[in-house]
Amino acid sequence: MINLENNFKDLKQRIKKAAEKTNRKEDDITLISVTKTVDVDTIRQAINIGSKDIGENRVQEIRRKYKEINENVNWHMIGHLQSNKVKYIIDKVCLIHSLDRMSLAKEIQKRAEKSNISTNVLLQVNIAEEESKFGLLGDDVISFIESILKFDRINIKGLMTIAPYVENPDSIRYVFKQLKGLSNDINKKGYTNTEMKYLSMGMTNDFEVAIEEGSNMIRVGTALFGKRKY
Ligand SMILES: *Cc1c(COP(=O)(O)O)cnc(C)c1O
Repeated sequence: MINLENNFKDLKQRIKKAAEKTNRKEDDITLISVTKTVDVDTIRQAINIGSKDIGENRVQEIRRKYKEINENVNWHMIGHLQSNKVKYIIDKVCLIHSLDRMSLAKEIQKRAEKSNISTNVLLQVNIAEEESKFGLLGDDVISFIESILKFDRINIKGLMTIAPYVENPDSIRYVFKQLKGLSNDINKKGYTNTEMKYLSMGMTNDFEVAIEEGSNMIRVGTALFGKRKY
């Protein structure tokens, strides 16, 4: 049995400590509770004890849980998104963390127009250039932004990365540093509809290092809900 309340408290404490190292407060860091494979009752419990942001990586799961959980929470799409599924979530999520290609940008623009809304996105960047991971290469991010500026329904709100899983998260500190550096470079360009407000980086294994390097949005599953059972 997991003790969600204790896990939540411990996690908050660790976030606070890491934030203070960079002269920030716990509240400056948005905690996304990653609920993939977690059942609806447990998610409700998490919401009751303070989760305000919920992250899922599969469209099907967001659709089902969104319908069942009638709470005022922010849904985040944090996983790889197929273009043909954009229509199912565009009116449900507050932020898509995984924009990584032109075809997806086109579809988001089209569906947002259709629903007469604007969509907030993060660009997913594959900083470590892992073959197994999605995301733009760091060197391609600027030109990608320039090529999607014409899509007036897309608001770029920052960057997201998934660091490689390693035993010692200190060895991937450079990943977070590079994403932060990239967001600074983009900021200086002053693009329209582009604001480097969020750096979505850090998971159970590495969120403290990520926060130390400037993350203000972490995506945590295991530390809250225990090991996932697939
Ligand atoms: C599953 C997942 C997480 C959470 O991972 P934990 O190690 O369980 O904290 C974060 N980000 C993404 C994109 C994920 O798919």
